[in-house]
Amino acid sequence: MKVAIIGAGAAGMMAAATINETSPKTKVILIEKNDSPGKKVIISGGGRCNVTTGFEDIKTVLTNYPRGSKFLISSMHRFPPLAVRAWFEAHGVPLKCEKDMRVFPISNDGRDVVEAFIEIFRESKTELLFKHSVNKIEKTDKGFTISFSDQPSVEADKVILALGGQAYRQTGSNGDGYTLAEALGHTVTELVPSLHSFITAEKWPGKLAGMSFQRATITADCAKPNSRTGPFLFTHSGISGPAVFAVSAMAAFNSVGLKRPLKIFIDFLPDTTVEEVTKQLQIVAKENPKKIFKNTLHHFLPLNLCEALCEYSQIFSHKKNAEVSKTEFSWAAALIKKVPLIAIGRGSGDEFVTAGGIELAEIDPKTMESKICPDLYFAGEIMNIDGFTGGFNLQASWATGRAAGEASI
Ligand SMILES: Cc1cc2nc3c(=O)[nH]c(=O)nc-3n(C[C@H](O)[C@H](O)[C@H](O)COP(=O)(O)OP(=O)(O)OC[C@H]3O[C@@H](n4cnc5c(N)ncnc54)[C@H](O)[C@@H]3O)c2cc1C
Repeated sequence: MKVAIIGAGAAGMMAAATINETSPKTKVILIEKNDSPGKKVIISGGGRCNVTTGFEDIKTVLTNYPRGSKFLISSMHRFPPLAVRAWFEAHGVPLKCEKDMRVFPISNDGRDVVEAFIEIFRESKTELLFKHSVNKIEKTDKGFTISFSDQPSVEADKVILALGGQAYRQTGSNGDGYTLAEALGHTVTELVPSLHSFITAEKWPGKLAGMSFQRATITADCAKPNSRTGPFLFTHSGISGPAVFAVSAMAAFNSVGLKRPLKIFIDFLPDTTVEEVTKQLQIVAKENPKKIFKNTLHHFLPLNLCEALCEYSQIFSHKKNAEVSKTEFSWAAALIKKVPLIAIGRGSGDEFVTAGGIELAEIDPKTMESKICPDLYFAGEIMNIDGFTGGFNLQASWATGRAAGEASI
C-alpha cells in the first residue's frame, strides 16, 4: 500500500513518522513544495519552537482552542502533550518546560525538532519529493492521482492532506490545501487571521513601542466576553503580545477596521482593585504633596506610559499632588485599570495561524478520514482548528498527524 502525504510541515512529518514506526512495510511518499521540510516549525516560537504545552490535563489543554476543541478530544487523548514530549525526547530532542508552561528544546533551536524527523526519514524508506507543488488531486478507481505543474504525476492508495493554513505564506502554506480539498468535495469555512497584533487609532502607543509588561489584562468589547491576562507589548502601530494574541483569536470573526473599530481596554494592574490603586495613589501623593502627579503615577507604571496617559487624558499633567482632587484620584486609578484603545486593523500578515478551514463535521475525529471522500485524510492547521499561543497549535498538528498516520495504514 502507498500513502501520499502532502505537506511536510508539523502534521505531515508526524503522519509520515507514525506510518514508518507502526507499519514499516507501508510505502510513504511525502510531498512538499519547498526544498526542505518543516520551514514553519523552524521559525516557530521565535526560532526556539514551542513544541507543545506543559499542561498535562487534557480538559485544560482543550480550553486553549477557540475552534476545534471538541473535535480534538479523541486525537488529543491518544497523543497528549506528555506523550508528545516523550516522543521527541526518545527521538533525540531533550525538552524543557518553562515557568509559563511552554515547552521548548533545551537547545532553543527549532531545527533540532525538524532534524529528528529527517533522521527518521533517512533511516526508513520514506520517499521525499521536495520542490513538488501539488496542483490537482483526482480520485480514481484505484486510489488517487496527484498532479504537479511540470513534474510527472504520482499515484497513491491513500492521501493525507497536511498543507497547513495560509498564515506566513512565505513558508509555503498559502491556502493551496483549501482549493485541493474543495475539489474533492469538501467545504471550507470562512478563513480569517488569528493570533495577531492590532493597529490602534491612537498614536500614543507607537511612542512606547517596545515597552512590555509581564501581566496585563486585555479586554475586547465583543458580543461574547473576551478577556485575557498575560504578557503585553506596545508596538509602532499598536499593541501585541500573548494576551493580545489570545484576544485576537477570540475576536477572530469580529470585523475590525476603520468603519468597524473594536474597543479594547487594558488593565495594567490586573491583580489590584481600583479602590486599592486609588488608596495607594492617595498615600503616595500625601507623602509628596509638591511632586507632580504624573510622577506619582510612576509609582505604578513606567514613566513614559504615565506621561502618555496624562497627555492623552489632558489633565493632571502639570498638577501637583496637593492639587489633585479625590475624584481625580479615583479617575486616574480607573484609567490605569481600564485604558481605552480603538483597534482599527489587524497587524497585516503577522498572524501566526488561520482560523477556519476544512469543515470538521466532514471529518471523522477519531481517524481524520474524510466522510465525503474515502481514503482521504486531514491533519493539522488545514482543518477548522486553531489554538492560543503556548504550543497548542503544534500540539494539535502532532496529535492529528499521528491520528491520520495511524488510521491510514
Ligand atoms: C511565525 C510563527 C510562529 C509560530 N510559533 C508557534 C509555536 O511556537 N508553537 C506552536 O504551537 N505554534 C506556532 N505557530 C503555529 C504553528 O507553526 C502551525 O500551526 C503549524 O506549523 C501548522 O502545521 P501544519 O503541518 O498543519 O502546516 P504547515 O507547518 O504550514 O505545513 C504545511 C506544509 O505544506 C506545504 N504545502 C503547501 N501547499 C503545498 C502544495 N501545493 N504542494 C506541496 N506542499 C505544499 C507547505 O510548504 C508546508 O511545508 C507559529 C506560526 C507562525 C507563523
